[in-house]
Amino acid sequence: MIIDDRFYDVIIVGTGAGGGTIARKLAEAGKKILVLERGEFTEKESSELIEVEVFKKEDYHAPEQWYDREGEPFSPQTSYCVGGNTKIYSGALLRLREQDFERVPHQEGISPEWGLKYQDFEPYYSKAEKLYRAHGKAGDDPTEPPRSEDYPLSPVERIPQIQEISDRISQYGLHPAYLPIGIGDEGRTDAEDTGVSPAIRAGHDITLKTSAKVVALHTNPSGREVKAVEAQIKGQSYLFIGHIVVLACGAINSAALLLRSANEKHPQGLANSSDLVGRNLMKHLMTVILQKSPQPNSGLFQPTLYINDFYWGDADFSYPMGHIQDSGGILQDVIFSESPPILSVAAKLMPGFSLKQLAKRSLGWWLQTEDLPDPNNRVTVKGEKLYLNYTPNNLEAHDRLLYRWQEVLKATDKQSRGIHPYGSSPISVVAHQCGTCCFGSNPKSSVLDLNCRTHDLDNLYVVDGSFFPSSAAVSPVLTIIANALRVGDLLIERLS
Ligand SMILES: Cc1cc2nc3c(=O)[nH]c(=O)nc-3n(C[C@H](O)[C@H](O)[C@H](O)COP(=O)(O)OP(=O)(O)OC[C@H]3O[C@@H](n4cnc5c(N)ncnc54)[C@H](O)[C@@H]3O)c2cc1C
Repeated sequence: MIIDDRFYDVIIVGTGAGGGTIARKLAEAGKKILVLERGEFTEKESSELIEVEVFKKEDYHAPEQWYDREGEPFSPQTSYCVGGNTKIYSGALLRLREQDFERVPHQEGISPEWGLKYQDFEPYYSKAEKLYRAHGKAGDDPTEPPRSEDYPLSPVERIPQIQEISDRISQYGLHPAYLPIGIGDEGRTDAEDTGVSPAIRAGHDITLKTSAKVVALHTNPSGREVKAVEAQIKGQSYLFIGHIVVLACGAINSAALLLRSANEKHPQGLANSSDLVGRNLMKHLMTVILQKSPQPNSGLFQPTLYINDFYWGDADFSYPMGHIQDSGGILQDVIFSESPPILSVAAKLMPGFSLKQLAKRSLGWWLQTEDLPDPNNRVTVKGEKLYLNYTPNNLEAHDRLLYRWQEVLKATDKQSRGIHPYGSSPISVVAHQCGTCCFGSNPKSSVLDLNCRTHDLDNLYVVDGSFFPSSAAVSPVLTIIANALRVGDLLIERLS
């Protein structure tokens, strides 16, 4: 075991949306930072995916297996690299809706109230949008929360086919809106080029170690503080020491790391006196649906349209249903690679089918519904093995959303003659994972306090998607980024 003799102000584990963002924030404030990332630097995802057989290669899966409830292995769709999952994400930067922070009855249960409200996050949403260069347009979507500032950049222009569809959806009486997306000089902004790398280039006191997989956190004898962080780097064990430790491994891996760090003082896992670490895993119900393109398109364009008219329900169903967005060029969206059944249907329905043809002749839609926190949906570990026990819930709301969207497509899209192949995501799609260390003010019903510090350990924080008490139905990343900026401010205050 090699013991690093430097003492850091903050050790951050993971460089995704949460970790990359807070690393930059703290480094710019002059703190001495160590970042441990299990992956390596990787190229930004090209939008030339039309030439890549993503459907076959499972390129976006981690090189390891996890296990489902039955003990069946699967390869999780998660990316271990500098920038984490933002390196392959679609760039949609949505704020949660104001009501998402409140207690909301759903058809199958309750979406719980958050301990902080939209107004607490609002200033950080604005900062996050500036940092990640959000292109958007306010005012079209009636569910949109109030904003203190306009979007920093104007919306990405729609391709004519999508604009035509948007017009028809408007005529149908719905409210299509511009999907806010983060675009920089070199494509989608991510937590590497917007987080860690600028901090390193600026010469701040930040050390990034890649291929550094953190395997355990060790506490002091009282169990009240993390004393050392143990990592495996190229086959060698290292111990790192710092004043504060921030986990940002993603909701599933952060929970697994806490569980694996069990010791005498924390027999159920670190920070787990509530027995909630790993529980309440949420990941959205997701369905992808294809629509024949009115005219051939390049297959290479950003997603630019979303519809939230059914977000809170409709006249026939008074419970929330969810969010709909276009997928951009369909092969750009790697989540499509998780829906092979849809392809076999498409193959039957579309003459001369090939991936290229499919990309050029199709438009895709993502349907997302909130899944509700269930303590039985959980991450557990047995030695090296990681298990996900996840049973989807709130299914009727999702079915209703699918049914309503099919009705809209039938009414507004005569070309497809009512045929719209669709497929739902399997367990391996953990893109929107959250909830496994939820925050709150009561140590019995939450793992983290409202500052995202663990209730049980004084110097341990978690800033990835784990802290969500509910999953809402819009995509999570902007909230993770905004929260990392918020916790960054709290840590700067604490360290000074
Ligand atoms: C294909 C795809 C498309 C998506 N599109 C969108 C979108 O358009 N909009 C949106 O809002 N969200 C989207 N998401 C979700 C979004 O990317 C995630 O919500 C976000 O990246 C999660 O941030 P995080 O900080 O929780 O974790 P991650 O970004 O997953 O980062 C975790 C990091 O921790 C590292 N790590 C893990 N374990 C260890 C360890 N033991 N030691 C050291 N390092 C470790 C990982 O390598 C990784 O770098 C998408 C996700 C995917 C997969």
